[in-house]
Amino acid sequence: MALFKTLDDLPKDLTGKVALVRVDLNLPMADGMATDLTRVTAVAPTILELADAGAKVLLLAHFGRPKGQRHSTMSLSMVQGDVERVLKREIMFIPEVAGPVAKQAVGILSAGDIGLLENTRFWPGEEKNDPDFARGIAVLGDIYVNDAFSAAHRAHVSTEGLARLLPAYAGRAMQKELEALEKALGEPETPVAAVVGGAKVSTKLDVLQNLVGKVQHLIIGGGMANTFLAARGVDVGKSLCEHDLAATAEAIMDAADDKGCTVHLPYDVVVAKEFVANPPSMRICNVHEVAEDEMILDVGPQAVEALGDVLKTCRTLVWNGPMGAFETQPFDAATVALARTAAALTKEGSLVSVAGGGDTVAALAHAGVAEDFSYISTAGGAFLEWMEGKELPGVAALSA
Ligand code: ADP
Ligand code: MG
Repeated sequence: MALFKTLDDLPKDLTGKVALVRVDLNLPMADGMATDLTRVTAVAPTILELADAGAKVLLLAHFGRPKGQRHSTMSLSMVQGDVERVLKREIMFIPEVAGPVAKQAVGILSAGDIGLLENTRFWPGEEKNDPDFARGIAVLGDIYVNDAFSAAHRAHVSTEGLARLLPAYAGRAMQKELEALEKALGEPETPVAAVVGGAKVSTKLDVLQNLVGKVQHLIIGGGMANTFLAARGVDVGKSLCEHDLAATAEAIMDAADDKGCTVHLPYDVVVAKEFVANPPSMRICNVHEVAEDEMILDVGPQAVEALGDVLKTCRTLVWNGPMGAFETQPFDAATVALARTAAALTKEGSLVSVAGGGDTVAALAHAGVAEDFSYISTAGGAFLEWMEGKELPGVAALSA
């Protein structure tokens, strides 16, 4: 990864400067209220550091999918109060992102004040990465800071275009994320293990293809393990399985062989005839004993034990996707057990553990290990694209 500038590269005194700061304020909402403020908490250190250094701070963010039009229900004014509560400061809402009204508002702000610009996606230029739209925003500021890794897989004006027009810096949350990801797959300590689970192979083909060239152990669980097992001739009954991807699964296993990557598939599994909590038909069996009317819903205890032993030999772990249908009891067992082993090894200092993915974050929180992993990314799409080995435009623009 190319080097990027951080807030450490800025002068201590930023009085007289205007910082345009891209943050993630796309908060989960219910009945017009934010239900979780994690995203605000994540960017607060960057905002406060810049404001306390004397900069006028202008927050840039998207909110929902307004598709280039103003929608009152997607105005960022809806989260102004939440941002103020987390920052413990008053901020000024500015109903534009460019033009005379925005310029005038910036003129009213004093050194150390914080302004919240309107939803960038109200303007079609944002998602088109339109250079004119970018220039209109850029004239408001002296520097650009990106603290929204979660949006870095998009080449939009607020994530990419502005970084090309102004001196660009990674905010503290972005910096932490990039440093963690670099440690996990950039220049990791070996051996490296990857756990890839979740529902379907088809959504993670690029992830698997990238990982076989980078890790020494590829641990496959979840519904996608069924596709690999089926490709190896195992009868998986009525399990979730993409039979049409058998050849692809085989190609991935061949590529792994070529590159010295060991693929671990479960050899015992938890099966049931119906997919409900604690079904009476539930049993543990060898993968070769799954009946025609049964489905595999979790990795079995013996396999989990063996996978724990694999992790003990590793120095680095990247994890995306649960090992089983963890939302339904007791098919969370393998995910919880393996997560706890990884957490314990991390605590001992023998493992660097990085995880991400929407359901993965929920599963690890459910296992009670969210604090014990080295880093858990909440970035969703951006995290997956990083696992696919893709260059993220928002990150590339910071490194230019
Ligand atoms: P992430 O969001 O972390 O990338 P995915 O969306 O790929 O993860 O997969 C998560 C989903 O996979 C969960 O809803 C889980 O219930 C499901 N899943 C895992 N194992 C199985 C299985 N054996 N059968 C059916 N669904 C499964
Ligand atoms: Mg998911």
